[in-house]
Amino acid sequence: TELLHFSDVAMTFPNGTTALSGVDLTVKKGEFVTVVGPSGCGKSTLLRIASGLTPATAGETNVATKRIGYVFQDATLLPWRTVQANVELLAELNGIPKKTRVAEAAKAIELVGLAGFEKQLPRTLSGGMRMRASLARSLTLDPELFLFDEPFGALDEITRERLNDELIKLFTEQQFAGLFITHSVSEAVYLSTRVVVMSGRPGKIVETFDVPFAYPRD
Ligand code: ADP
Ligand code: ADP
Repeated sequence: TELLHFSDVAMTFPNGTTALSGVDLTVKKGEFVTVVGPSGCGKSTLLRIASGLTPATAGETNVATKRIGYVFQDATLLPWRTVQANVELLAELNGIPKKTRVAEAAKAIELVGLAGFEKQLPRTLSGGMRMRASLARSLTLDPELFLFDEPFGALDEITRERLNDELIKLFTEQQFAGLFITHSVSEAVYLSTRVVVMSGRPGKIVETFDVPFAYPRD
């Protein structure tokens, strides 16, 4: 099943900057696709188009699900809310009743290894744990397609490696399809079933590499 299908997509901003051109990209159920490329080649723009936040200015964009998770580098937690209340946020905005969203948040918090931290405020947590809370918040949507915009880029190397392993575990267990942006080729190869290399201005896909034996993992 194709969850995302882009064909000849281009994006020109109102100021005249063309950020993307001629992008063909497909993400199917069971795939974890990483997009790697230098700053400014249009990776974030591509992800925003995938999320529906920004419409492309040319080409075809089909996204076959409304259950889309989206995680950014700065975990964007509300600083005045506890971990529990932050993780409940998306369910709350979707009008899910209190009892249901408390249960959904508890499940997501458990999945990301934050059980016991429910009552803490974001500022009392490490960067890695804030990112876990941010992942948990999106997991309450039970996403079919999970978009990641350089989520671990601001973390130290050890935390980053640990979160990479935890993400692989989540991907394997929760069965969402992933579209993940990074600057790091090694991170891309480690995480994904397919690596898409972008470059240039406007950004184009210059290479695609199917990672052999990527999954399942032990
Ligand atoms: P990346 O994520 O690969 O660093 P971006 O998608 O953020 O690249 O940006 C691609 C290009 O589009 C850059 O040249 C950037 O300056 C430009 N750009 C991004 N957003 C806007 C915008 N809202 N208006 C004009 N130009 C933009
Ligand atoms: P990470 O590398 O995931 O960001 P740290 O290395 O900062 O986490 O923390 C390692 C462990 O220390 C965590 O798994 C957690 O058990 C504990 N810990 C971290 N922050 C706190 C905190 N604010 N209060 C209590 N325990 C914490």
